[in-house]
Amino acid sequence: MGHIGIRDLEVYAYHGVYPEEREKGQNFLVSADLYLDTWEAEHRDDLDASIHYGIVCEHIKDYMLREKHMLIERAASEICENLMLDFPKLKKVCVKLYKPEAPIPMNFGTVFVEVCREWKDVYIAVGSNMGDKEGNIRSAIQMLSETRGIQVEKVSTLIQTEPYGYTDQDVFLNGCLQVKTWLPPEVLLKRMQEIELLLHRERKIHWGPRTIDLDMILYGEEVIHTKDLAVPHPDMTNRRFVLDPLDEIGGWVWHPTEHKTIHQLKEILEERGAKDYD
Ligand code: AMP
Repeated sequence: MGHIGIRDLEVYAYHGVYPEEREKGQNFLVSADLYLDTWEAEHRDDLDASIHYGIVCEHIKDYMLREKHMLIERAASEICENLMLDFPKLKKVCVKLYKPEAPIPMNFGTVFVEVCREWKDVYIAVGSNMGDKEGNIRSAIQMLSETRGIQVEKVSTLIQTEPYGYTDQDVFLNGCLQVKTWLPPEVLLKRMQEIELLLHRERKIHWGPRTIDLDMILYGEEVIHTKDLAVPHPDMTNRRFVLDPLDEIGGWVWHPTEHKTIHQLKEILEERGAKDYD
């Protein structure tokens, strides 16, 4: 990965907690670090293979003037996220926003915040066994893709599977999604749970019927154990209804604690004789 840097771009803008800051305005300085694959640009010597830093500067000025924010944290995150959306070659962006004329009644150099966003590849398992199962899954995918900071990249074939755990219920429709996201894991989980609620998921019986179930299977190669989140999903290696669709869209993907690819894990599960679907 290469890196383009911009330092101390001057923009007169109107961010601040005090009303006079948002009326009169003041000077801000913006530094940005833009991470992208520069290999092609290095070898083709063609601007189309890279990002025009002059246009990036104009965009930054534009974002700085589009709205008046109270906090420089918010203004910096707007710059970061808008750059990620407007320049698809970017893999990661870090922005430092300096406010050298901040209203502090003392001598000081400057104050600043730094904010970063990075695209991560995440795999999400989807399932439904109530109502219009395919419609529920398609709605969940639509809601994910309409979320700022989530882009749905691949959707596996949806497969019909027998219930797991609590077996006295209708068959499931299951699949897997590959999304790229800059949302941190806990924020992504919250959004997935909101979507489950919006699609009227009721949680009456553990492993029981549900209009929609969204599970975070892999978040890059991160290993996460918190009160609310376990990633990689602890049960994924025992579930053909997860590994089969996941293998279809990402068989080469590495499981960070099993130290095997998804395809290898699927083969191991098949050898163990895990039950077929119908
Ligand atoms: P479920 O009934 O399968 O949707 O489980 C939901 C519960 O599992 C929630 O309380 C989550 O906080 C927790 N959980 C732990 N790890 C994960 C994960 N990787 N994906 C989704 N939910 C998770």
